[in-house]
Amino acid sequence: LESKLPKVGTTIFSVMSQMATENDAINLSQGFPEFPVSQELIDLVYQNMQIGHNQYAPMPGLPVLRKAIAQKIEKTGGVALDFDAEITVTVGATEAIFSSIMALVGKGDEVIVLEPAYDCYIPAIELAGASPVPIALQQPDFSPDWELIKQQISKNTKILMINSPHNPSGAVLNKQDMEELKEILKANPQLMLLSDEVYEHIIFDGREHFSVLNDAFLASRSIVVYSFGKTFHATGWKIGYVVAPEMIMKEIRKVHQYNCFTVHTPSQHAMAEFLQYEKNYLGINDMYEKKRDFFAKAVSNSRFKIVPSYGTYFQLLDYSAISDIPDMEFAEKLIKEHGVASIPVSAFYSERKDDHLLRFCFAKGEETLQKAADILCRI
Ligand code: PMP
Ligand code: GLN
Repeated sequence: LESKLPKVGTTIFSVMSQMATENDAINLSQGFPEFPVSQELIDLVYQNMQIGHNQYAPMPGLPVLRKAIAQKIEKTGGVALDFDAEITVTVGATEAIFSSIMALVGKGDEVIVLEPAYDCYIPAIELAGASPVPIALQQPDFSPDWELIKQQISKNTKILMINSPHNPSGAVLNKQDMEELKEILKANPQLMLLSDEVYEHIIFDGREHFSVLNDAFLASRSIVVYSFGKTFHATGWKIGYVVAPEMIMKEIRKVHQYNCFTVHTPSQHAMAEFLQYEKNYLGINDMYEKKRDFFAKAVSNSRFKIVPSYGTYFQLLDYSAISDIPDMEFAEKLIKEHGVASIPVSAFYSERKDDHLLRFCFAKGEETLQKAADILCRI
């Protein structure tokens, strides 16, 4: 059998979580929260099953949920959207990204990916038959080098992918970056943005999340993906949504309808109701900021160097003062010999770039974080 994705193995998140389980290690590798989903949200899903909301929802998602999403976007500073034409409920952000790329690019098209990049981007581009163009973010702050990006754009570049707050670095785009994006789109009429904003509500120190949906021009040229999994600590529910202008969304739905058709109906009803209350999503910044600070303080006496995290629930630690072995090897040793699982950052690069960085997920209780930090301080 000739593989369609010869360079792809099993995703690093499965590999590291499995290794953590096998070695009974504290799992700070794959990103998922340790604490429970709101009882109110669980009750809403249950009630909706009880009253019989158990059959297929409409293909683009329940109208009540799409209306609630449009209202939320407007309330948080975004443009007014046509909920019927411009929003589709998806099986997590992963399906949103996959269906969008499949629908919009093919042979001869190029897609710019800023690395380190979330690991589902490039395989989707390759499956679509298009060419990924990886460009490294700048060190040490993981900011985009806009001049370099401009040089790499050709008439074949159809999509520029961005991700803020950024997994794995925790870097965030600022107002100036939004201006650069506008300039780039104006100079390249064939170009669209695919903006991954799944961590929109996990941003720290009073920073503002700059969504491309907060600007009418950027919104008119963007596909934007979100995940209820992140915002409601329910990564296993796999629900998200994609926002795009009608003409683009028409194409995305052609793929979505044959990829999964629609998403779990009772959860959609529950989300529609839960989203009405701002406190259900605006409150998570503070909770995660405390966790970031707790973990950073707890490892501050270790030999690991902290790379500042401004958003997401990830903390990068640099181990170069401890060892110069490759990050995958170091991550493996950390699990097998010390009992803490992390993600080697080289997994987020297409050409293995090794900066001796590991990613730790701090979406955990303080006891777990303290236990892991105590181990890291002894290394
Ligand atoms: N994009 C980024 C940057 C992510 O970190 C994740 C998941 N952690 C996703 C997309 C996928 O989200 P979902 O689980 O909703 O498919
Ligand atoms: N997005 C999560 C992370 O970055 C993992 C999602 C997955 O396991 N596919 O860790």
